[in-house]
Amino acid sequence: MATTDFERVPAVGSDADARDAGTIVLKFGGTSVGDPEKLKSVARRLVARREAGHRVVAVLSAMGKTTDDLLDLAAEVSPRPHPRELDMLVSVGERISCALAAMAIHDLGHEAISLTGSQAGIVTDTVHGKAKIVEVRARRIHEALDEGKIVLVAGFQGVSTSHEVTTLGRGGSDATAVALAAALGADHCEIYTDVRGVFTADPRVVPAARQLTRLSFDEMLEMASSGAGVMMARSVEVARSHNVKLHVRSTFEDAEGTWIQEEDQEMLEKALISGVVHQREETVYRVSGASRAQLFGALAEASVNVDTIVQTGEEIVFSAPVEDRDDAARTLDGLGLAWSSRDDLGKVSLVGAGMKSHPGVAAKTFATLEGAGIDAAVVSTSPIKIACHVPSTQVDRAVQALHEAFDLGSR
Ligand code: ADP
Ligand code: ASP
Ligand code: MG
Repeated sequence: MATTDFERVPAVGSDADARDAGTIVLKFGGTSVGDPEKLKSVARRLVARREAGHRVVAVLSAMGKTTDDLLDLAAEVSPRPHPRELDMLVSVGERISCALAAMAIHDLGHEAISLTGSQAGIVTDTVHGKAKIVEVRARRIHEALDEGKIVLVAGFQGVSTSHEVTTLGRGGSDATAVALAAALGADHCEIYTDVRGVFTADPRVVPAARQLTRLSFDEMLEMASSGAGVMMARSVEVARSHNVKLHVRSTFEDAEGTWIQEEDQEMLEKALISGVVHQREETVYRVSGASRAQLFGALAEASVNVDTIVQTGEEIVFSAPVEDRDDAARTLDGLGLAWSSRDDLGKVSLVGAGMKSHPGVAAKTFATLEGAGIDAAVVSTSPIKIACHVPSTQVDRAVQALHEAFDLGSR
């Protein structure tokens, strides 16, 4: 059995000693700024908040599928694009959204300024493609806010300690927004997206999934790192470390969304299971004869995000995202190890803080999967999660079966 250890989050340099109730940080995802009309409607929303007296900072994602299109473009030009140049390319998407939103705000008679991640003072480490924020130097944002401007920050990007443009990994605008909320002392961070909040399962897979009212940071972190794409996992880590509450809500309606905050007694007594999350693909490696410290040290060095680790006897089994496959393979070959991998597996995970004090969840999970004729190749747990690697082709069916068995849609 393995537990998931989350990385320590480096301190986000905070310019605000006290929480500044007047500053709000809002983040809009790709669908929310998907076309010019949607951008204009985001601009109207921001102006309304400014007129209500807030100091408004908005973090925008690239419009619609822009990031995917830019990545495809790079792949057409080069089979293995240079990481520095790839970051120069894909960071452009977010700049487009911010510049256009600033124009739309000007037309509404308000002052606005768009900033790149670098201009906004988002300082990262030097790992291209999945850089981590190490510091926020928010001086320029404060100056613009003091001048009454609405500040638009390009999400997903920063400037490295060696002065290069970096990007933060897929979904990285969430991390930008949460880090800014922490640095600016905002009470909470509003995440506007294309669903009404966090659901008991991906509503695209389980149409009957139920919207959750509240979740603890730990639950959301487990859900996000197990595949619930609605929030980037690392952004939840930053929120937890700096105690920034998150409000995940819809861009297209005004309804209350899902609050993610510190766990309280009420949450613990509440649900046994908060959700069933999935990942359609995750590579599972088998390595024998390796020194654990050397193996995981080398993988960390290569920035491979190892998830599950299981060891029985000589053999070590671990999983990592498909995107990290090349780096993992190079590392394992470099260590001269005998290894194999499976690329036909995905993962389904049950997450819930109530699990801590309720026996029998694992038994029911296995019985449900068995009943559905689904074989779990690897099983791992944490105090609030049970994760099963199952064939990718059976992931959706596994999610639906577990959602139904634990009666998650009907409470
Ligand atoms: P954005 O571009 O706004 O960041 P994302 O596509 O990154 O939006 O995240 C929103 C999507 O996350 C939803 O459309 C939904 O399909 C997916 N999703 C996956 N799991 C969940 C879940 N448990 N609850 C809500 N949405 C989920
Ligand atoms: N545009 C980036 C992506 O598609 C970052 C984000 O949307 O958060 O991953
Ligand atoms: Mg996202």
